Amino acid sequence: MPGGVKTDVKTYQMYINGEWVASQSNKTFPVYDPSTEEVIAQVPDANAEDVNRAVASAKAAFEDGPWATTTAQERGRVLFRLADKIRQNTAMLAELEARNTGKPIVEAEYDIGDVATCFEYYGGLATKILGYVNPVPDNAMSLTLKEPIGVAGQIIPWNYPLLMGAWKLAPALAAGCTCVLKPAEQTPITALEMANWLADVGLPPGVVNIITGFGESCGAPLVQHPDVNKVAFTGSAAVGKIIVKMAADTVKRVTLELGGKSPNIFFADADFEAAIDGALFGVFINQGEVCSAGSRVLVQKPIYKKFVDAMVEKAKKIKLGAPLDRDTKMGPLVSKDQYDRVRSYQEVGKKEAKLASGGGRAEKFAKGYYVEPTIFYDVDNSARIAREEIFGPVATVIPFDDEKDAVKIANDSPYGLAAAVWTRDIFKAFRTVKAIRAGIVWINHMQPTYVEAPWGGYKQSGFGRELGPWGIEEYLETKQVHINLNEQPIGWY
Ligand code: ADP
Ligand code: MG
Repeated sequence: MPGGVKTDVKTYQMYINGEWVASQSNKTFPVYDPSTEEVIAQVPDANAEDVNRAVASAKAAFEDGPWATTTAQERGRVLFRLADKIRQNTAMLAELEARNTGKPIVEAEYDIGDVATCFEYYGGLATKILGYVNPVPDNAMSLTLKEPIGVAGQIIPWNYPLLMGAWKLAPALAAGCTCVLKPAEQTPITALEMANWLADVGLPPGVVNIITGFGESCGAPLVQHPDVNKVAFTGSAAVGKIIVKMAADTVKRVTLELGGKSPNIFFADADFEAAIDGALFGVFINQGEVCSAGSRVLVQKPIYKKFVDAMVEKAKKIKLGAPLDRDTKMGPLVSKDQYDRVRSYQEVGKKEAKLASGGGRAEKFAKGYYVEPTIFYDVDNSARIAREEIFGPVATVIPFDDEKDAVKIANDSPYGLAAAVWTRDIFKAFRTVKAIRAGIVWINHMQPTYVEAPWGGYKQSGFGRELGPWGIEEYLETKQVHINLNEQPIGWY
């Protein structure tokens, strides 16, 4: 163990082929509590050798293991049992998630509830993977079968650690795939805790492997591995582009969810109180570390001034605090890197626009990566703070004239993950929804996400969809089967 690490810090192993193992190099790396800046765990530092071992185990489990012949009913039951375990252990998982990410405990509890719901949903969907009979003109029957893609490599981010794991594992397992999951290096521990139950709930060895490591030394070899059939990634746009390039050599199926710069659009006729709440919730929930954060707040000119003032007034009352305090609405950012990144955008913003509120570190905390909820106004949509994903509590308020102007600004972004529209006029709401190029559009709300409904982006926010029946499709191949019913020879020669 590296020097200076407290002895009560738990050292984890990772989970490969149903066994707990160290990395082959025996190296570990530290995991932090961002509210105290202290090390809370050590995890294996997996590299390409460990990736090979995990992929070999997933491949064997797919090809030879009992998983391939497990019925859809049984796969479903396995997922139900895993969901039960997660519900029974909500308090423990939520506390670990809050300590490790910095998110408020109350939100972490919601997240863990959503994790269980996701496994339940896909447990139910396992028995609803349907094929087709294709209406071909000959005396033949043509069938379409749906089959699991094979070994899935799954790389996830740090903002909703176990939930992003569930979004990827649950549909893959329901489809009959086997998995190698790599959590983000900042937040690997809840996935490792969950691995304690995988054998008990009935997953054969190798069906789910969880490896801990860094992007370049562990994520990249997973993406490049020839025996990985599909890669599912949620993370930054920069890494998403690298992944597509790396996956090209082996023609892997890839799905990407890459975040955004989502417009939250407020027309003058919106319910004012609800609108202010929606603007703040949209961008400051989870400390703004949300891929669909409503970070561009577009406000129609007649209410613009009043809107900015009301946002500032309410933002001042947001309770920043320790993640485990039940009154906390915003905790620290996840890591020193993320803190530095957000702080630097706060400084960029001061040069590009007017600062209405916040703009620095939250100084009342002696330790921890706390930043103030920050609001810039009179932001031009061409500014860096309006174009680049900050992934922190920084709102950029942009005025607009009319519907046409709002749509133009909203769509003027390389991203297209999400958007929201606030108005009492249903016709205007729907015209705007249709004009916006984004994968999710809320009307008079922002952020609710349901396992039953599709999630994913347009443009550089990625491709493919997670959740709902769309999510399982991404783990299925399509096979056509032709059955000749004509008893005569073909008669070709
Ligand atoms: P951030 O920079 O905010 O941490 P990333 O997109 O870098 O966001 O991280 C999301 C996930 O992608 C993490 O699990 C990380 O380890 C992984 N990752 C980062 N770089 C690479 C890479 N070159 N290849 C594969 N995975 C990577
Ligand atoms: Mg990175």
